[in-house]
Amino acid sequence: MLKNTNLEEWDRANFFHPSTHLAEFARGNLPQRVVTGGKGVHIEDSAGNRLLDAFAGLYCVNVGYGRPEIAEAIAEQAKELAYYHAYVGHGTEASITLAKMVLDRAPKGMSKVYFGLSGSDANETNVKLIWYYNNILGRPEKKKIISRWRGYHGSGLMTGSLTGLAAFQQKFDLPLDRVIHTEAPYYYRRPDLNMSEADFVAHCVSELEALIAREGADTIAAFIGEPALGTGGLVPPPEGYWPAIQAVLDKHDILLVADEVVTGFGRLGSMFGSDHYGMRPDLITIAKGLTSAYAPLSGSIVGDRMWKVLEEGTDRFGPIGHGWTYSAHPIGAAAGVANLKLVDSLKLVDNARDTGAYLKAALKDALGDHPMVGDIRGEGLLCAVEFVEDRDSRTFFAPAKGVGAAINTALLARGVISRAMPQGDILGFAPPLCLSEAEADEIVGKLKGAVSEVLG
Ligand code: PMP
Repeated sequence: MLKNTNLEEWDRANFFHPSTHLAEFARGNLPQRVVTGGKGVHIEDSAGNRLLDAFAGLYCVNVGYGRPEIAEAIAEQAKELAYYHAYVGHGTEASITLAKMVLDRAPKGMSKVYFGLSGSDANETNVKLIWYYNNILGRPEKKKIISRWRGYHGSGLMTGSLTGLAAFQQKFDLPLDRVIHTEAPYYYRRPDLNMSEADFVAHCVSELEALIAREGADTIAAFIGEPALGTGGLVPPPEGYWPAIQAVLDKHDILLVADEVVTGFGRLGSMFGSDHYGMRPDLITIAKGLTSAYAPLSGSIVGDRMWKVLEEGTDRFGPIGHGWTYSAHPIGAAAGVANLKLVDSLKLVDNARDTGAYLKAALKDALGDHPMVGDIRGEGLLCAVEFVEDRDSRTFFAPAKGVGAAINTALLARGVISRAMPQGDILGFAPPLCLSEAEADEIVGKLKGAVSEVLG
């Protein structure tokens, strides 16, 4: 129970909320929600609402809310040793165990894991490691990073630059130099409606080839991508996309970073998206599903070919000058160990695959014939419904109409949290991986009602 009845007022007076319209919030025109509890796929708020969270927070609470196993592991760690750093060879039982558990689950060819706190700082680490790598190899010009439009890689300076969404860059003087963008593998929004999936993959490849030719392969260090696009629209890649991209990167000696902050540890119905789609990454970014957000923790998994060079670099130049105070924080690491054990014991990766397929089929059944539903897509428990004004011509709604946001609000009024993705009228679903078929039915039934209310 809340002890304080002034929370809403204190919130408006003191709290700078991320990703929020600050002026509207100050004027009291945005909803305030004080979240008080959670169990399974549900959260509760101070107004007494119980909501089905079909976006798992920010697609991170993979094992669901209120797991005592993780809470107890955190409490035990805090009592025994809340903190010690990881510099110069220090570790704890939790951090060393978690490093092994991560590598045991990672795709082949990965060597070590560096722990950070957020997906953004893990990608900052990746960029530094990439630059360090090419400096050690005597290629100081090979530094640019290719990202995709609609990719999301964080909101720091470098990671906000990699993110290919205007809202995260405008008025922040981003992107920084050394970041270049290429086509997103978004088949539904292909430039020519007559393109087959294979044509579209060939188009993405030729766009990438043209970019590399324009910039010069000897200036390009790496390519970063989410196995399936997340915040940019929840879009699984077209068949054959990653092997085709990988072949281009191999030809030009360009490293691959798989940003698995969303997809790592089961969301797509495989432990890692890299294995799911046949990627061979040099670096893998992990965060959210590593601890199911019970404590902040992220990681950069470093592949064999980079690791050898990093070791060589420290032989020549001394200890690597990169570290956070909270790298491998024991409480985060203890949460990670307990979380990954639960992912295994509850068979959540299999459940993501099976219940994900069930959810997608149910969405198609319920909404597939609606004249303003353009696309229903997904892989595992990462699904999206995209709304358009006209399905045949794929005319998108004018952004000012706010159709996606309106359906999101109508669904919330029915007790289900989805996410109106930041670009386009796309409603995203990424529930906890423990979702049941009955809960999937509830999401779909309520969405159908919300769509009829807004679009008829
Ligand atoms: N990469 C991806 C693919 C993400 O989805 C996110 C966050 N949604 C990030 C990086 C950044 O993670 P964080 O918000 O923890 O910094």
